[in-house]
Amino acid sequence: MNDILPDESYLWEFFEETVRDWLGSYGYRNIRTPVLEQTDLFVRSIGAATDIVEKEMYTFVDELNGENLALRPEGTAACVRAVIEHNLLYAGPQRLWYWGPMFRHERPQKGRYRQFHQVGVEALGFAGPDVDAEHLVMCARLWRALGLDGIELELNTLGDSDARVRYRARLVQYLQRNEAQLDGDSQRRLHSNPLRVLDSKNPALQDLIAGAPRLADDLDESSIKAFDELQALLRDAGVSYRINPRLVRGLDYYNGAVYEWVSGRLGAQNAVCAGGRYDGLVEQIGGKPAPACGFAMGIERLLVLVKDGSEVPSRVPDVYLVRQGELAERFGARVAEVLRDAGLDVLLHCGGGSFKSQMRKADASGARVAVIVGDDESGAGVVSLKPLREAAQQVRASIDEAIDLIKKSVGRTS
Ligand code: ATP
Ligand code: MG
Repeated sequence: MNDILPDESYLWEFFEETVRDWLGSYGYRNIRTPVLEQTDLFVRSIGAATDIVEKEMYTFVDELNGENLALRPEGTAACVRAVIEHNLLYAGPQRLWYWGPMFRHERPQKGRYRQFHQVGVEALGFAGPDVDAEHLVMCARLWRALGLDGIELELNTLGDSDARVRYRARLVQYLQRNEAQLDGDSQRRLHSNPLRVLDSKNPALQDLIAGAPRLADDLDESSIKAFDELQALLRDAGVSYRINPRLVRGLDYYNGAVYEWVSGRLGAQNAVCAGGRYDGLVEQIGGKPAPACGFAMGIERLLVLVKDGSEVPSRVPDVYLVRQGELAERFGARVAEVLRDAGLDVLLHCGGGSFKSQMRKADASGARVAVIVGDDESGAGVVSLKPLREAAQQVRASIDEAIDLIKKSVGRTS
C-alpha cells in the first residue's frame, strides 16, 4: 500500500481532472459506495473459485455484530448492489462511474499493489453491443487525452452461459488428458473453475494452453452476432483490436464480449484496463434481470505510462509574497488575499527571516514573480515586483497595476 506524496500527487490530480472531463463528455454520472461491503457480495458475484475470492480479499469479522465484511477488491459488485438497493434502474438505464481505492492481498511487485486505485464505468440496463462499443471508443479517447500511444485492445467473447457449459466440458476433458503437465493451481482449478487455467501466467503452461480447444467453436448464435456487430462498430470508429481467443478474465460474472487494454511498456503487469459484459450479475445479486457491461482501469499502471510519455506540468504558484517589517507583515497578508481575489495562486511567506533568505525561498518555490513588500511599500500602499524566471528589473506598482503585470507575465488573460 503506497503513500502518494506531493511530488507525485500532482500527476494524480492531472489524471483526475482529465478523467472527470472525459466521463462528463459521455454523460456518465458518478456513484460513490463504501469501501467496505459484506464479504458475501463478492463471493457471490466474483465467484468462489477465483483468485480474488480464494486468496486476495481482506476480510474480517466485525466484533460488534458478527458481520463478515471485506475491503472491496473491485468496484462492479458494489455498484450493482447500490443500483439494486436504491432501485435506480426503475428510472431507466444508467451510465455510472466510480473512482477509488481497491484492496487485494497480492504478492507485491511492480504494478501490483495491495491498495490500488481504479476508475470504473458501468452501463446498466443496456443490451449492447452499441454501448460496449461506446466503452471501447471512450477508452481510446482517454488514451489520446492522456497522450498515450501503444495501448492495444484485446477482445474476445465468452458467449452465453450454455456456451460456456459446453465449452467447459470439452476443456475439462482436454485438461484431464494432460493433467500431469498442470501446476498446482491449475490442478485445483480443473474442476472448480477450469476456464481460469487459460488465464494462467505460468510460462510452463503456455504450450498446453495454446493447444486447448477453442471457446469459439461452442458459441451461441446471438453472441456471435453481437460480437460481429461490436467489431463492425469498432472498425467504423477506427479503434483497432486483436482477437485473443484465450482471454477469459478472472471474474466469474462476465459473459459475451470481454476485453483488456494492454501496454508493451509495463512488463509482466501489462493490463491497464479491463472489462466486458455481465448480463447475469444484476439478477444474481437480487435485482430484476438487466443486461449490463463495464470496465475498470488501474490508475497506478496508467500513471507509469503518463509519467514516461509526457511532461505534466506541476502546479506552481504564480506569486511568492515576500514581506519584511511589522507593517509589511500585515499589509502583505492583505495583498495576498487581493491577488487571490484576482485569480492568482499566491504563496505567502510565513515564518519571518531576512529579505535574502525569503528571496531564496521565492526562487525555490517555482513562482514566476516575487511580490515584495517592506515598510516603505506598506506606507505608500504599493508593492514591488521582481520577475523570477527572466532577467528583468524590479519595479514598483500599485496593486491593480501589479495584478495586470503578473497576469501578463504568467500568461493569464482574465
Ligand atoms: P491482473 O491480470 O493484472 O491481475 P485483473 O484481471 O486481476 O488483472 P481487474 O480485476 O480486471 O484486474 O482490474 C482492472 C485493472 O485494475 C487491471 O487491468 C489493472 O490495471 C488494475 N489492477 C488489478 N489489480 C491490481 C493490483 N493489485 N495493483 C495495481 N493495479 C491492479
Ligand atoms: Mg488479478
